[in-house]
Amino acid sequence: MPMEDCLFCKIIAGDIPSAKVFENDEVFAFRDINPQAPVHVLIVPKKHVANVIEGAACGLMNALCGAAAQIAAQEGIDKTGFRLITNCGHDGCQSVGHLHLHLLGGRQLSETMA
Ligand code: AMP
Repeated sequence: MPMEDCLFCKIIAGDIPSAKVFENDEVFAFRDINPQAPVHVLIVPKKHVANVIEGAACGLMNALCGAAAQIAAQEGIDKTGFRLITNCGHDGCQSVGHLHLHLLGGRQLSETMA
């Protein structure tokens, strides 16, 4: 099931080290190597799918959002608030071709989304 040459598949497999914050049967989550906020966690499905279009088509988004809610509580940002982002494709500036949600929080985020 892991995709050869996929960075996040290698992280999930433990072949590349990561700072894991959460794991269940379907989801793996770890700290972003280049954090944009005090809390910046990447939430990825263990199954390799390219982006949110494929993830939605195979019913993975519930598991990812459920994990995001759990991680937000674990990180202590569920009450203060946070942002969940998934970049998709070229115009969305997706740089890793394995679906991931960015969970950002721990400070007042900018109103600018783009
Ligand atoms: P995106 O640009 O939406 O595809 O996001 C990819 C994210 O992966 C970026 O925020 C990177 O900082 C992050 N990233 C790249 N390599 C690693 C790594 N080895 N460990 C953790 N995060 C990474």
